[in-house]
Amino acid sequence: MKDQIREILDDMRGEILSADGISDPLTPPPPSLPDTAEEEIESRLRSRLSKRNDLRLKPVINATGVILHTNLGRAPLSSKAVEAIKRIAGEYCTLEYDVSTGKRGKRGIGVETMLHDLVNCEAAVVVNNCAAAVLLILNTIAEGGEVIISRGELVEIGGEFRIPDVIEKSGARIREVGSTNRTRLSDYEKAINENTRLILRIHPSNYRIIGFTEKPEINELAILADNYNLPLYEDMGCGLLLEGEQVGINSEPSVASSLNSGCSIVSFSGDKLLGGPQAGIILGKAELIERVKRNPLMRALRVDKLIYAALEATIESYATDNALNEIPILKAIHTPKEEITRRARLFIRKAKTATSSFEFKLIDGNSVAGGGSVPMTEFPTTLITITSNAMSASEIEAKLRMNDPPIITRIVDNQIVIDLRTVTVSGEKEIIEALKKY
Ligand SMILES: *Cc1c(COP(=O)(O)O)cnc(C)c1O
Repeated sequence: MKDQIREILDDMRGEILSADGISDPLTPPPPSLPDTAEEEIESRLRSRLSKRNDLRLKPVINATGVILHTNLGRAPLSSKAVEAIKRIAGEYCTLEYDVSTGKRGKRGIGVETMLHDLVNCEAAVVVNNCAAAVLLILNTIAEGGEVIISRGELVEIGGEFRIPDVIEKSGARIREVGSTNRTRLSDYEKAINENTRLILRIHPSNYRIIGFTEKPEINELAILADNYNLPLYEDMGCGLLLEGEQVGINSEPSVASSLNSGCSIVSFSGDKLLGGPQAGIILGKAELIERVKRNPLMRALRVDKLIYAALEATIESYATDNALNEIPILKAIHTPKEEITRRARLFIRKAKTATSSFEFKLIDGNSVAGGGSVPMTEFPTTLITITSNAMSASEIEAKLRMNDPPIITRIVDNQIVIDLRTVTVSGEKEIIEALKKY
């Protein structure tokens, strides 16, 4: 605060000095000089503090139709996960305590057991995010040795996370095989030597190679790996715990299908298609998971009790067959277009009663999964366009964005569009309230 006031005083002094230096009589005086310096300081301080406040996290209304919006925090948690965090956050808890023996317990054992029961895997461990999982697995299994990977999979996941860089940081060497668009099983086989530690498959969760392409099926790779007694690791990224058809994403393999195809170890994010908190979930053979857990890096990459609480509740929704009703992002993906059209019509009716400053129309469009998951999959939706005679699309966009809570929209063909697929019922009310102000 003191620093802030000092800076403001410095600014004001500077402004006065430079204003004194102005000799041009045509230069207009500064608009509306304040009555007193105190008032000016106070008003400048207020605006600085409110800017500071804007830097802090706040909830927003995501009207973009991008279901896993990385800039908007990816997956919103289910109400059960939020409840679980609340229950644990303000109390002591059994994070590393076994009530049946009164001795030290195993951190994460609850969620690991749930994952084991839910998915067909021997063991599980949870780390900070999927990037951490990749680093930890490669470091554990392949440090000092070679990792075989197709040239079509040496990709960037986003935010500077590049697979080749991560492999190098893990202490393993990359053994690239095949070409960008075509890699055959025999390419992998030819590359195997006494230094090979691991065969790595990166699931194309944020890109597609289309056209003249070829790559072995995951089960073919698994057989090859098994023949040479090597582990096969698939970094899945998205983490679809249901089958694709159940959710309406046929192109995406489920975690269970990868494990059943013979992967020794897989990793995926907690806050992508799983719909939980930020985490990296590792499943696989007990012997490999044990080694991962004993890696000294584990301590640096582990998650806290709040993440375990939210993950347990999220996995519980899957275990009780309620995921499609309870997990917000699955609900959003699963909502049929007709339902969104119905809500959009109702929204327009309410909005028209609330304000006459805007025109509303329905147009066809697509929602996307986003968040580096299932690229090229679009979900048909009905968008609401909002236009005004008095304001341009970018003016409306900015006003909604600066609203409290901020409402994030898209501009398509010079008009604001909102997609109710990612908006809750209370979010709809907030949007109407915001429009009423103009
Ligand atoms: C998203 C993704 C990651 C990174 O996951 P974070 O949880 O964001 O760290 C790693 N690998 C793949 C294949 C991904 O799709």
